[in-house]
Amino acid sequence: MADNSARTDGENKLPTSEEEWRVRLTPEEFQVLRQAGTERPWTGEYVDTKTAGTYHCRACGAELFASDTKFDSHCGWPSFDQALPGAIRYLEDRSLGMVRIEVRCANCDSHLGHRFDGEGFTPTNARYCINSISMRLDPSTT
Ligand SMILES: [Zn+2]
Repeated sequence: MADNSARTDGENKLPTSEEEWRVRLTPEEFQVLRQAGTERPWTGEYVDTKTAGTYHCRACGAELFASDTKFDSHCGWPSFDQALPGAIRYLEDRSLGMVRIEVRCANCDSHLGHRFDGEGFTPTNARYCINSISMRLDPSTT
């Protein structure tokens, strides 16, 4: 049976156009997630968060980072030293006159932040510098 009715309960259905994303997200979320913007340092709600749980993509809800990989980098954005397997898509970003690794949600292709390697913060030698507004923390109950 064809399911072409105008149902609105499609929580798992991703928008297919930027206009749909614009409706779904707040202007601030849209600017970061869909236009690769960056929130101002120290302004994000998760910069100093220590709460245990899982960080999800704010655009599509996919799981991205576990709270036990979050560490204090003092850079002004939430930082993680590894991502959940398969959660991330990496792109080369040549904006701002340098080469950086852009980090996107593998599920919905929304911009999350950047990954920096070789800084030696933790044994993984990686720092995922992620906008708070790109994520939503789901606190664990255990
Ligand atoms: Zn996503």
